[in-house]
Amino acid sequence: MHAASPSACRDVNAMSSNARRRNSARRNAALRYVRESGKPCWICGCAIDYDIPQGDPLCCECDEIVPVSKGGDPFDFDNVLPAHRCCNAWRGAKSPETVRMIQEEVIKEFVFWASPLDFVEKAREVVRRERLIRRHKTVAREDTTTDW
Ligand SMILES: [Zn+2]
Repeated sequence: MHAASPSACRDVNAMSSNARRRNSARRNAALRYVRESGKPCWICGCAIDYDIPQGDPLCCECDEIVPVSKGGDPFDFDNVLPAHRCCNAWRGAKSPETVRMIQEEVIKEFVFWASPLDFVEKAREVVRRERLIRRHKTVAREDTTTDW
């Protein structure tokens, strides 16, 4: 089999770069939408200071409730909510159900948290312990929440 001809490659590249530009405009619209919502972080529940510059652990990011890796639409306003960068990074591709379950565990265990970073620390601890418990279980059981 021959590789695609150089001209075909160029066409593909041109197309994907246009798509990227189009997508980044839609992505900016989604980010603008969540910033203007003024909502607290959906992961830790703490308020977001929307003036904090991008890149800071406490800045606002546009998070997909159903992760893109699991078929979520990053441009659907119904599928995006604001989250702190640190919370979003901690969450990764965890399902919203898993995030909620971990939140509940953190509340049960710690009652409250002082800040988003504090929440992430406590959530990590809860997950670490849960993994340890699972490792010690002799009977493996089917579980839909394996993304803990
Ligand atoms: Zn947060």
